[in-house]
Amino acid sequence: MIGQHHGTYLIAQNEQGLYLIDQHAAHERVNYEYYYEKFGHPADASQELLLPITLEFTPSDGAKLQERLHWFEQAGVILEHFGGSTFRVVAHPYWFPQGEEAEIIEEMAEWVLSERTIDLSKLREKSSTLVSCKASIKANQKLTPEEANTLIQRLAACKQPYTCPHGRPILVSFSTYDLEKLFKRVM
Ligand SMILES: [Zn+2]
Repeated sequence: MIGQHHGTYLIAQNEQGLYLIDQHAAHERVNYEYYYEKFGHPADASQELLLPITLEFTPSDGAKLQERLHWFEQAGVILEHFGGSTFRVVAHPYWFPQGEEAEIIEEMAEWVLSERTIDLSKLREKSSTLVSCKASIKANQKLTPEEANTLIQRLAACKQPYTCPHGRPILVSFSTYDLEKLFKRVM
């Protein structure tokens, strides 16, 4: 770890060369792999809410949602029809990032409503992507060297450390030879 550029990119080096790492994308990847495991067995993680979260939909979305409630259950979210086009969340996995629960479930609902066909693996991928994005550090956030090092180590331990769950690149690298070429130290 060498430093951080504009609170957004980590700069790192090793024997092979120089790396620019998008910290949000890196954190998202680390979180994605964590949550993907979690969503593999969501049922035993569901926590009943003392204060259910209420969600409102348009009448047509509400009708469609009633037929697709079982998909939420597959992701550990217990959503109940609460009359009209109102629904309430009575339980969700305890490991949802705090303060982001309602927004996550709203985005899950948007996705469940927009998909033509849903299957379990698509649901698991989509839920993990949504939750990992919400749980990740943003751009323009200063990291201590320890935090940055931990992030880089966790990224290195990922199964797929090169792209974020949305498919964007996590890092750009320059080999020592690339740098020498850029500066015309070699031809
Ligand atoms: Zn992403």
